[in-house]
Amino acid sequence: MRTVTVVGASLAGLYAARALRSQGFQGRLVIVGDEHHRPYDRPPLSKDFLKGETGQEQLALADAEEIAELDAEWVLGTRAAGLDDEGRTVRLAGGRALATDGVVIATGATPRRLPGPELSGVHTLRTLDDAQALRADLAGGPGRVVVIGGGFIGAEVASSCAALGHDVTVVEAAPLPLLPQLGEEMAGVCAALHGDHGVALVTGTGVAALRGEPGGRVTGVELADGRLLPADTVVVGIGVRPNTDWLAGSGIAVADGVVCDAGCVTALPHVVAVGDVARAGGSRTEHWTSATEQAAVAVHNLLAGATLMAHRAVPYFWSDQYGVRIQFAGRRLPTDTVRIVEGSPEDRSFLAAYERDGRTTAVLALNRPRPFMKQRRELMRAAQPVAS
Ligand SMILES: Cc1cc2nc3c(=O)[nH]c(=O)nc-3n(C[C@H](O)[C@H](O)[C@H](O)COP(=O)(O)OP(=O)(O)OC[C@H]3O[C@@H](n4cnc5c(N)ncnc54)[C@H](O)[C@@H]3O)c2cc1C
Repeated sequence: MRTVTVVGASLAGLYAARALRSQGFQGRLVIVGDEHHRPYDRPPLSKDFLKGETGQEQLALADAEEIAELDAEWVLGTRAAGLDDEGRTVRLAGGRALATDGVVIATGATPRRLPGPELSGVHTLRTLDDAQALRADLAGGPGRVVVIGGGFIGAEVASSCAALGHDVTVVEAAPLPLLPQLGEEMAGVCAALHGDHGVALVTGTGVAALRGEPGGRVTGVELADGRLLPADTVVVGIGVRPNTDWLAGSGIAVADGVVCDAGCVTALPHVVAVGDVARAGGSRTEHWTSATEQAAVAVHNLLAGATLMAHRAVPYFWSDQYGVRIQFAGRRLPTDTVRIVEGSPEDRSFLAAYERDGRTTAVLALNRPRPFMKQRRELMRAAQPVAS
């Protein structure tokens, strides 16, 4: 393999580039990214960066020395518009075509938006540019912020806005935020964090419309049950969709993500997918750790020309809200039972285990990082990547 093109210059793309070099690839490495920035870390965007406690320079995922060592051609600010010739040509917006022997698809995901006319003061949060725009909006002094969607990013934004002195309301269409991820009991504990910190949580109702003059600024959020929440700023956190549009007509199968096997390999052995865009082995995760772990596995298989290794790691994510670190690892089913192993939900500091047939399937911790990591390691021991 003489040329490998990584499409997507962010977390999974950078880790794939690192893996290519560390696994001995000495050929031409091209990294295409539609953002103008070198890879940066997204988790702080909803946390310390939004609060102004972390600067842009601290977000960089690689320093100048590492960038030089990678010896890659960076094509930034340029969107890949297509994948042609059975995955041997990456077509760029503007018409340039890159001939390549291998492709790593690492194009991540884009926030879903609400239908309706564009209004200023309405934000989504995925990129550094998004975070800068939101931060600038919030800097105008205390105001009314409505966060639509009570998932992890919505909750983190709510927490950061509250810390900045804003009057915050979170709107969640489900009876409780994070129900599918955590189950009713633990979702209830996490939902209570909002109230602990003076943030209103409105559940069980969707959004009918955003109010505001077309082309002007948002003034409120009209709920499906008829209530109107006045708002100076609205943040929409209603999930993402994987960035696969550019693959239309490529022959690469897409179904809520790039369909690939457990080794991140698509139907074409020289095209692999990693990170938020990858539906690997039947599931797609949107977690920092999966994006980094998948890269090494995918590159191993790409360089071998066949799936020799599978990514069987235990899904893991963390979230920081209201000074509480939430950590979750494992795969829970709605029928699993949950048991507090240590600490207490009332103190917002505990470790809980999800169980099925006497076996632990997942663990959740609030402010218990050390025992959590021990439990996570135990879950991981049973699920190491399989080499053959
Ligand atoms: C605000 C925020 C907070 C988060 N907090 C946490 C957390 O606390 N814990 C956790 O586990 N995870 C967290 N995550 C999730 C984590 O950041 C993602 O899982 C991770 O960024 C995925 O990396 P990726 O490289 O697959 O995708 P992305 O980071 O989305 O990168 C994909 C890149 O590809 C580019 N791209 C897209 N289409 C094209 C194209 N056609 N051509 C060229 N380039 C393209 C995109 O612009 C982007 O730069 C958070 C995410 C966000 C947004």
